[in-house]
Amino acid sequence: MRDFIPVSEPDIGEPERQAVLRCLEAGWISSEGPFVREFEEAVASWVGRRFGVAVSSGTAALDISVAALDIGPGDEVIIPTFTIISCVQQVIRSGAKPIFVDCDPDTWNARVEDIAASISPRTRAIIIPHIYGLTTDVEALERLARENGIHLIEDAAEALGQEWRGRRCGSFGIVSTLSFYPNKLITTGEGGMVLTDDEELTKRLRRLRNLAFAEGPRFRHDELGWNYRMGSLQAAIGSAQLDSAEDRLIRKRSIGQRYRELLGDIECLQLPVDNWRGQENVYWVFGFLINRDAGINAQSASEALRAHGVDSRPFFYPLHKQVALQEFCDPDATFPNAERVAERGLYVPSGPNLTEQDLVRVADAIREVLS
Ligand SMILES: *Cc1c(COP(=O)(O)O)cnc(C)c1O
Repeated sequence: MRDFIPVSEPDIGEPERQAVLRCLEAGWISSEGPFVREFEEAVASWVGRRFGVAVSSGTAALDISVAALDIGPGDEVIIPTFTIISCVQQVIRSGAKPIFVDCDPDTWNARVEDIAASISPRTRAIIIPHIYGLTTDVEALERLARENGIHLIEDAAEALGQEWRGRRCGSFGIVSTLSFYPNKLITTGEGGMVLTDDEELTKRLRRLRNLAFAEGPRFRHDELGWNYRMGSLQAAIGSAQLDSAEDRLIRKRSIGQRYRELLGDIECLQLPVDNWRGQENVYWVFGFLINRDAGINAQSASEALRAHGVDSRPFFYPLHKQVALQEFCDPDATFPNAERVAERGLYVPSGPNLTEQDLVRVADAIREVLS
């Protein structure tokens, strides 16, 4: 039996090792050469997009997306408060104003009606991250964006492999972003991608990730960019990961189902929504809320689980409460759902390689800690 069950372990095997060796033997280790292009095309086609632009992280993908859409001073961007800070960083740096919205108390995603109510004449874009494996009604958000002449940026980092009404996540809005951090469905170690159907935007995104080299003579720059390039070794690992993504998706779903069976009778737990308007949760992570009547908060439960050899993580800390963002927040705005979810939420080991024995042990530890 293992001493400690980590919250996430990547599923790296022989295909990934072989892919890295092929890359080394071919001599391509920078972002040049065929490996990055092949990975971009493979992910774009899997998701149902025309173009992919591979970058060094999911955060980088969000940064260049916001920059490529010329979001800046005077613009407002609607962002759920219950998400990772990556969603808001370039919005702030560009001089635009984030407008936060609360989350749903059950799905933890932002609600279309709250987003609609936040649209003003200054709104330029909506950034919609999908939380922990379920999406909101992204089709309705696409319609809302179109009707209001604003951009929809889909952050699909936690919902790769998920679908909404037959369309894969990563295919909604003007651009979608992905992360390939080791806890994501596909990992490259560190990495990310922007997906879009727009050819001109793709060129701009490629320039922005590569120091904004202008077309024409070398070392000329008309604007500032970043070095957000992905290397070939990462891309090679990513292509191998994509080949087994469907299999991991099935395993993640069945881990979610098994946790539901094991934990379903614990009254003080609010389990994640399994099926929302016909969409089955992909359980990117298996998170739950510990109700107030349990007499223990998420923080203490996490420490107690650790003593039982079970790793866990708290939920996101809402953006509107971040010290770094106070000067950009409306002091009168309150987001009670996000605050409750952040305080009571915890996710437990959710990697695709967890065994039945691991799951039972995690569930037993949760039961013990809550009793
Ligand atoms: C993981 C994640 C990111 C950030 O990705 P990095 O590759 O770690 O920069 C952004 N958004 C969401 C929703 C994520 O889950």
